[in-house]
Amino acid sequence: MKKLRNSRFLKFKFWIDFLYPNRCACCDELIAWDAFCCAECEQKLPYAGVYCKQCGKHDCICEREDFNKQYDACVTALAYEDIAKDGILRCKLEGLTNLPQMLVPALCEVVRKISAPEIVCYVPMTRAQQSQRGFNQARDIARISAKQLDLPLLDGVLRKTDSTLQQHALSRQARLAAVRGAYTAGKHIDAVRGKCVLLCDDIITTGSTLNECARLLRQGGASKVLCLTLATTKYRTKQSGEEERT
Ligand SMILES: [Zn+2]
Ligand SMILES: [Zn+2]
Repeated sequence: MKKLRNSRFLKFKFWIDFLYPNRCACCDELIAWDAFCCAECEQKLPYAGVYCKQCGKHDCICEREDFNKQYDACVTALAYEDIAKDGILRCKLEGLTNLPQMLVPALCEVVRKISAPEIVCYVPMTRAQQSQRGFNQARDIARISAKQLDLPLLDGVLRKTDSTLQQHALSRQARLAAVRGAYTAGKHIDAVRGKCVLLCDDIITTGSTLNECARLLRQGGASKVLCLTLATTKYRTKQSGEEERT
């Protein structure tokens, strides 16, 4: 770094910060142009810690009969709580990619240790959702992952058909039932035949969305499905009068 600390570099940095203000992925504070997150948030980020890499959950769901797991592995970085929630919501609602850019390189390292993906795809949104929002955060994560792994990013492998259900508000059982039929194979499904596929999304909750997408990829001939998400929700103990949300 020493050689970079010359006045020309500082001037360059000043102008970049001035012309392209960069904001913390979690708290919206102004940060340096080449940072992803402010130092305070970086300290506070709730990392996922120990979880099952076969399913991506802290309380393993691999053997749950009502789940019938279709993917081979799921790697994740954060526990979906506290400032991780803020960061992921900003990625989802504002298209700010600082958080995925910060987390994806390490996630890809873990993926590489598990297997060797050949193509990258993502959990799709409906056409209406995508045109309303202008981007799909899962595609952003997939794009960054594909670049990191030097692999092709494939669009149109999967398609989302149902826009009416806000899944995060449903109970586990309702969500498991609702997700069937919400996705179908897209026009480029043939591209996955015989391939080890990396499937990206922002959060794994019950796992039912990834599972349904993985089922369709397998149906399309994928030899393996690995999942990558930024965060995983921890199952909460049911409080009195409260639905179990995942
Ligand atoms: Zn911050
Ligand atoms: Zn598991």
